[in-house]
Amino acid sequence: MNMKKYYSNGEITVVWQPSLCVHSGMCLNGLPSVFNNGNSPWINPQGATTAEIIKQVEACPSGALKWHRNEEFYHG
Ligand code: SF4
Repeated sequence: MNMKKYYSNGEITVVWQPSLCVHSGMCLNGLPSVFNNGNSPWINPQGATTAEIIKQVEACPSGALKWHRNEEFYHG
């Protein structure tokens, strides 16, 4: 089962698939104002600009993080 979690800032939605996460910590180290294990939920999509979030999501080595613009259909 592929559970997905969604975090929206209104403009984009960050999608996280826990089953794919290899816990590299890259997102935590790269953008801690958004990705923080100490927070609940652990992703705060208001914590940085949309451009910063997109850059960090695309740096995820496992594909556990993805993003899409809210008005677009997401092809996963
Ligand atoms: S960068 Fe991707 S694989 Fe690494 S901890 Fe974050 S979500 Fe998981």
